[in-house]
Amino acid sequence: MLEKQFNPNFVYNGIVHFYMDKKGYSKKKANEIAQAIVQREIQRRVCKNELCKHFSYDHIRNNEICLIVDCKCREFTK
Ligand SMILES: [Zn+2]
Ligand SMILES: [Zn+2]
Repeated sequence: MLEKQFNPNFVYNGIVHFYMDKKGYSKKKANEIAQAIVQREIQRRVCKNELCKHFSYDHIRNNEICLIVDCKCREFTK
């Protein structure tokens, strides 16, 4: 559901503003935190199958067969 709408830039900006506006962090510090969080979120959503590396939402129900044409992946690998 929301999985499909994951937008790294949108999430990134939201995190930066949160840390700057609500936590009073410097822009540099807020950017570092946002980068780390977004990287981790992206990694969590990428299939670890060497032949695949597509996002979880490219797989049926986020964990079954990959829907990308020509991809041989049969199961989302965490
Ligand atoms: Zn794939
Ligand atoms: Zn896959």
